[in-house]
Amino acid sequence: MDRALSARIFHLLKKHYGVPDPSLRYTGLYELAVSVVLSAQTTDAQVNAATPALFARYPDFARLARARIGDVERIIKSTGFYHNKARNIVALSRAVTQRHGGELPSAREELTALPGIGRKSANVILSIGFGVPALAVDTHVLRIANRLGYVESDDPLRAEEALTSMIPRADWTTAHLVLITHGRALCAARAPRCRECPVRTLCAYARNNP
Ligand code: SF4
Repeated sequence: MDRALSARIFHLLKKHYGVPDPSLRYTGLYELAVSVVLSAQTTDAQVNAATPALFARYPDFARLARARIGDVERIIKSTGFYHNKARNIVALSRAVTQRHGGELPSAREELTALPGIGRKSANVILSIGFGVPALAVDTHVLRIANRLGYVESDDPLRAEEALTSMIPRADWTTAHLVLITHGRALCAARAPRCRECPVRTLCAYARNNP
């Protein structure tokens, strides 16, 4: 991979998909942070189905910080792993309330110190919530970075480093959204639809799996 090839790939992907909107539905940083924690191991559609009831009952960090775990579990059950997720979003809300005066911090180190927020989640919050360029590597981004030849690794941090070394900083957020959209639309984990793919002639995986 080199910068010229990377630029061609993203030119073609952006031409094909445009600049996609984030698929999580949220208003404000509180709802974004909670939705991101709930999105682990499930689809954004499942999260979007559960969060209106959650946010109606607990409209901010302060209210969710005082919630009973069992009540939260009942509302978010459909998102899976709901015991852990309920504990995490209540603990997250308590930490934001107690350590940050109820305002979500905008520094990566402070975000990743919060319950339930790892590097990927922090990058989503930074890029989509705060408008700070960051490239979150989820399962789609990791898979496609490997297939396109940015990296040969299962380590999301190495993929993030490879992608951000090739893609201009101003395009990191768009690259994240485009790659997720591509992973959902064509470059699925099983049976990628390479014949329909706009970057098939540039893709290492397609070359090696004609
Ligand atoms: S050519 Fe196939 S493997 Fe490569 S990016 Fe496109 S869909 Fe994915």
